[in-house]
Amino acid sequence: MFVIERVRCNPCCVELLLVEDDSSISQPLKAGLEREGFEVTLATTGAQALQADPVDLVLLDLGLPDLDGRVVCQNLRAASTVPIIVVTAREDEIDRVMLLELGADDYVVKPFGFRELVARIRAVLRRAASRPVEEERVEWGSLSIDRRARHVEYDGTRVDLTPKEYDLLAALASDPGAAVTREQLINDVWDENWWGSTKTLDVHVASLRKKTDPSLIQTIRGVGFRLAENQQES
Ligand code: CA
Repeated sequence: MFVIERVRCNPCCVELLLVEDDSSISQPLKAGLEREGFEVTLATTGAQALQADPVDLVLLDLGLPDLDGRVVCQNLRAASTVPIIVVTAREDEIDRVMLLELGADDYVVKPFGFRELVARIRAVLRRAASRPVEEERVEWGSLSIDRRARHVEYDGTRVDLTPKEYDLLAALASDPGAAVTREQLINDVWDENWWGSTKTLDVHVASLRKKTDPSLIQTIRGVGFRLAENQQES
């Protein structure tokens, strides 16, 4: 199971899990990342990746010999909040929305520049480190969120959410009833560099409304969204 205990600022202590089956890529990449001061563990299959010890960040090749990389990504995300950067070949024709759904934090397309990759790793680690530590339970009207278990109930019934739906609901619930701007939500839940994420946000809000109550999330025109106050009185 992956749990980020803390993201350390000193790169010499940052542990990366590199999941890559092609040794012509993994060997020079591992050596390069180690020269940058990262501690690198290599997994050559999806099964190895899922059994690996906790790390600070996962670099995940989607084309693996045993398991679909997308399934590996989903399983890693279901188990923890570890930042995940997906590595994909150009011919995979990645769908950004699909990667968001899987819970990836960012992606790079092969062939990628080493400097670019290191910059992305640092950016994702910085973002993970700045996530606020919040209360473990949120109760807001019919809505109940257990952050430790990433467990959501509405009207006493378990609600099954995708990782990003959960993150979005948790972001709105960080200050229940307060307006949260679209930019803030995109920054908190996705990556400000994702283009197309504006539409993705609306899709996820619609899905959350469908899975809970249409009135749970209010649209604040031109601003963003908030958890509806009448939830508190119901
Ligand atoms: Ca591969």
